[in-house]
Amino acid sequence: MIIVWIIVIPVVLFFVSAAVVGIYQAEAENKIQKESEIVAKLVQGSNLRSITKISQISGITESRTIKAITSAIERSSNEKSYFSDAYIDFDRMEIVFPKKKEDWTCVYCRAVNPPEILACQSCQASQKEL
Ligand SMILES: [Zn+2]
Repeated sequence: MIIVWIIVIPVVLFFVSAAVVGIYQAEAENKIQKESEIVAKLVQGSNLRSITKISQISGITESRTIKAITSAIERSSNEKSYFSDAYIDFDRMEIVFPKKKEDWTCVYCRAVNPPEILACQSCQASQKEL
């Protein structure tokens, strides 16, 4: 009889621990997914490129912010999305969008203008005069 338990107990323990690990991993992935969506929205809706600033505003630690951005970039690799071609510059701790035109700041009045506007919305100075 004892020989049965010697086999049954380890088998039960194996399945229980496998289930616990599975739940833990699913929750961890879920958390990265959620943080990734928060960070993605934050970056898309603003000019925020600095990892440190994104971390401060979102309340997500820097290392998790990096994971969240990496996850957003990975998800976009299959589809044409905002984060296609984006990467993290670890020296500058910034997200880089190589193909995207960024907003520009007028040298005369410091107003921030969207890339498609060629003359400053505030003082009409041309972007080319920069
Ligand atoms: Zn201006």
